[in-house]
Amino acid sequence: MKTAAILGKTGLAEIASAKQVSLSSAPTRVSFWGVRGSIPTPGPSTVQYGGNTSCVEIRADGQIIILDAGTGLRLLGQELTAEFGDRSLDVTLLLTHTHWDHIQGLPFFLPVYKPQNHLHILGYEGARHGLENVLSSQMESPFFPIGLREVPANVRIEELKEMSFNIGPVRVQACLVNHPGICVGYRLFASDGSVAFFPDNELRPGRKTAPQAPNVAKTNALEFLRSENREMIDFLRDTDVLIMDTQYDREEYKQHVGWGHGCLDDVVMLALEAGVKQLFLFHHDPNHDDAKISQMVSHARQLVASRNGALRIEAAREGARVELRAKARI
Ligand SMILES: [Zn+2]
Ligand SMILES: [Zn+2]
Repeated sequence: MKTAAILGKTGLAEIASAKQVSLSSAPTRVSFWGVRGSIPTPGPSTVQYGGNTSCVEIRADGQIIILDAGTGLRLLGQELTAEFGDRSLDVTLLLTHTHWDHIQGLPFFLPVYKPQNHLHILGYEGARHGLENVLSSQMESPFFPIGLREVPANVRIEELKEMSFNIGPVRVQACLVNHPGICVGYRLFASDGSVAFFPDNELRPGRKTAPQAPNVAKTNALEFLRSENREMIDFLRDTDVLIMDTQYDREEYKQHVGWGHGCLDDVVMLALEAGVKQLFLFHHDPNHDDAKISQMVSHARQLVASRNGALRIEAAREGARVELRAKARI
């Protein structure tokens, strides 16, 4: 039995105050640095949840693991630099895929410009061009002044073949998802619990193939969702914290079937089926302002209540963090 407590919108200063906590003895911590999908969305209508793209930091069992390198990675890089100073930093970056909104922060990640640092980048095939080529090409002239192979830090890029591996004591399982090109989701098993990260994913089947007739019972649609996503439900069984693509509400989704992004209602049902403890809505649509995202959270909570579920729901927001603590440690 694990507990996950949201610490709220901490702001960067509060995260910095955790400096003194030794990495290995600290509880598992999830920090959100970028939560937006597709393209950054700065501006007054997105200040509550944030406008930077996909980047989540996990501190677990002495490891610093970064999930995706969207534009939120820039802020994390500043924070790590402030925390570690001249001390050597050892970081693992797990990429779900190489779409822009998941890699654009990499050239602006300050730790790669310090020779004492080690960055190990892990991911799967970059759209048939090789992971290293894809990551390097976005930093080639004329796109960027410094090449990835020229940066002072020790950067190692590894294209994964296996779907299960370890980062120190943290076990990681990957799962191919329904999204254009090669894209995966990850589940990390730390001593305090597990965190699953599925930033870009459309559950199967799309509404195109689901029962359409108005007289079709809702239970049939749920049965479809359940049978078509059985593997993913098993993969996510009893996850403590699930971070998942919920880009569209039900109405919007009808116009975006097959685009590779999530429908909120389906994701909530999936999380309930899998016995997930806490769900974070993620990959917020660039056209959704703060009010719309808050509305989606309320809708998702109502869905859970209507099924007497215990699933807790939040929308991921920049600067928020969550701690997981095994019961034995409380
Ligand atoms: Zn994306
Ligand atoms: Zn994508």
